[in-house]
Amino acid sequence: TNDQLAQWDRENFFHPSTHLAQHARGETPTRVITGGSGVYIEDRDGKKMLDGFAGLYCVNVGYGRSEIADAIAAQAKELAYYHAYVGHGTEASIKLSKMVLERAPENMSKVYFGLGGSDANETNIKLVWYYNNVLGRPEKKKIISRWRGYHGSGLMTGSLTGLELFHKKFDLPLAQVIHTEAPYYYRRPDLAQSEEDFVAYCVSELEALIEREGADTIAAFIGEPVLGTGGIVPPPAGYWKAIQSVLKKHDILLIADEVVTGFGRLGSMMGTTHYGIEADIITIAKGLTSAYAPLSGSIVSDGVWKVLEQGTDELGPIGHGWTYSAHPIGAAAGVANLELIDTLGLVGNAKEIGAYFNKALQDALGGHANVGDVRGEGLLAAVEFVADKDGRTFFDPAKKVGPSIATALLGEGVIARAMPQGDILGFAPPLCLTREEADAIVGATVKAVESVLGA
Ligand code: PLP
Repeated sequence: TNDQLAQWDRENFFHPSTHLAQHARGETPTRVITGGSGVYIEDRDGKKMLDGFAGLYCVNVGYGRSEIADAIAAQAKELAYYHAYVGHGTEASIKLSKMVLERAPENMSKVYFGLGGSDANETNIKLVWYYNNVLGRPEKKKIISRWRGYHGSGLMTGSLTGLELFHKKFDLPLAQVIHTEAPYYYRRPDLAQSEEDFVAYCVSELEALIEREGADTIAAFIGEPVLGTGGIVPPPAGYWKAIQSVLKKHDILLIADEVVTGFGRLGSMMGTTHYGIEADIITIAKGLTSAYAPLSGSIVSDGVWKVLEQGTDELGPIGHGWTYSAHPIGAAAGVANLELIDTLGLVGNAKEIGAYFNKALQDALGGHANVGDVRGEGLLAAVEFVADKDGRTFFDPAKKVGPSIATALLGEGVIARAMPQGDILGFAPPLCLTREEADAIVGATVKAVESVLGA
């Protein structure tokens, strides 16, 4: 029974990203999700919900795709596992590496497969350190990340993540990680009068940080093309071009974390090409398999690859590998998923329906007295709530306005995410979203907002 499952859950299950004490006391419900189809999921009570966040912005193709399920089953029957060490592969992993490179920017050379976004970013930092060691500059090791960036929950990746919750009481960030300003103009009206001025401010902050720390101590800069978990914030115009030229000047590598933006989310295959970002390493996960199986990747450029190769000529095999690197079932899911993204035209759909959805959100909510900002790109969007629109005064976090609206929205049968910092409601539905489904999300959101904040 549901009650029995809830009891076992409270007694045994240590949930990620959960208020542990409240959950153990039964103050937060156990939700048993049993099925999904298209943009909908269903719980054990038969309640159907429109998943406006595609799980954790990962189920890009939508739920219940038998093409991927069949590919997984076929791979599991044929060969559930073999490792990828010392040149071993499966048809699926080799084919997927080719498919990934075909979708990546032209200067990309090879892909290393992991399990999830966090381990892929851990890999990236090790590769960057290895790279500088091979080049004989072991002191060039620090990594610049942005406040509000999200790059994972490991020791290094939790350090790169620029959200307080992920540092507090974990003794993070690690010493090698330094943070710079987030490209989040809406929240920093105190710093600049226009987006253009704000980009100049971000550049001057970055320059000052590099000057303070010394360029010869800094290995890489990591950033998401669109700031995700930190608030879903598309970059101000010209931001990436300006940041990139600073990094090039100081010989600092650029890691583009495309865990969310990769494989169609922004209405382009990749966020790097969407914004003309010339990355040295690209992180991929989520949309690579649409979360039908865990798989991630670190795509490295020609320039990085040449140095890594040189390292192994000097030192022997690279000392970095997971048991489940390029897991055959993940790889089979990836191949079927990327094929499906193409055959269903989901990148184009994300562009078209994304534009429709963003405009509909803006039209329906932009005029509300407590809606400060409606923003988005492709099928990634956010609504930010404020106590006072003109002064951009934010609500007292203790009021939990964002989470209350997300809860009210769930009552309307739609899932959105209350982003962890600020009163921001995030949307990232599956890329197969239709106009009618977009209208349903917007209609339900208006009701939820009005129920918490008034009309
Ligand atoms: N990078 C970005 C941009 C993410 O959004 C996430 C997860 O949301 C990660 C990395 C970490 O991925 P994972 O949770 O699969 O470890």
